[in-house]
Amino acid sequence: MIDLHLHFDGSLLARTVLELAKEQGIALPSEEPDELKLFLAAPADCGSLNEYLEKFDLPLLVLQTREAVRKGMYTLVSSLKEQGMLYAEIRFAPQLHTKKGLTQEQVVKAALQGLQEAAAGSFFKAKLILCCMRGADNREENLLTVRTAAAFLGRGVAALDLAGAEALYPTADYGEVFALAKELSVPFTIHAGEADGPESIRAALRMGASRIGHGVRAGEDPELLEELKEKQIPLEMCPSSNVQTKAVPSLSEHPVLSYLRRGLLVTVNTDNMTVSDTTIEREFRLLKEELGMTPEERRQLLLNAADAAFLTAEERWRLKDVIEKVCVGKTEL
Ligand SMILES: [Zn+2]
Repeated sequence: MIDLHLHFDGSLLARTVLELAKEQGIALPSEEPDELKLFLAAPADCGSLNEYLEKFDLPLLVLQTREAVRKGMYTLVSSLKEQGMLYAEIRFAPQLHTKKGLTQEQVVKAALQGLQEAAAGSFFKAKLILCCMRGADNREENLLTVRTAAAFLGRGVAALDLAGAEALYPTADYGEVFALAKELSVPFTIHAGEADGPESIRAALRMGASRIGHGVRAGEDPELLEELKEKQIPLEMCPSSNVQTKAVPSLSEHPVLSYLRRGLLVTVNTDNMTVSDTTIEREFRLLKEELGMTPEERRQLLLNAADAAFLTAEERWRLKDVIEKVCVGKTEL
């Protein structure tokens, strides 16, 4: 399995949040992992993306020191490794981890240390994607995130992203941020077509996004669907999360397989293992059980993920080789 759209703060296990809080003397609403999960996971009928995003407050509270970021990343990567995954791109916004005085650079260094310690000597590989944030007064922080990504590009950081409240802060407002990314040759994906419509995806493409986070609402504009197909722009779709944030009304109406059948380069991801209470295996199982995904479609989705990864051509080829070997003779999940 490959996960290209996985948020660090939204995927921290309840027991890790507890441990980090205890070490730092931070009070939490519950000391019981099972009870704490209720505060960390979004309900199935969450209301909107804005309500979903509130679930990040608690994990972010405990991820404000170098040691906490290192340890949090270490435990997340260890759990991905234990799941038997091949490759993951883990994203987070360094500017949200600076409340106790860390610089963005220190945050990224700590995350990379945790990632490298956990992945050392294993088949599993992971890279970081640094998120810029939608917001009213963080222009400087976003520009610094772009420069930080450029400084660490090829040294554990693979790309940039734009995350946050899409309906409140339009994608088109972030042209300056991604013009700098282009100037510094940092590839990027952008969350678009989730809480906002096709115009948000069009804006992301105009700015030079090489992938689209979600893109679930592309279907409202048939011409855009055609463009995404023709240019083979990867869509990082996250079925459970898309239902929770009301980007789609229900899983049975999720367009992931209809886009795939039209020839779009669709990938399946978790978004947030804890906030959406899921795993990549579970997302694929849901597609099989609720949408009738065939073994061939599963294979195609996995190959698409390898094709869409922010890796070199040779690394992508190696991933695809492993997927083909595993899928041959093992067509049932
Ligand atoms: Zn996301």
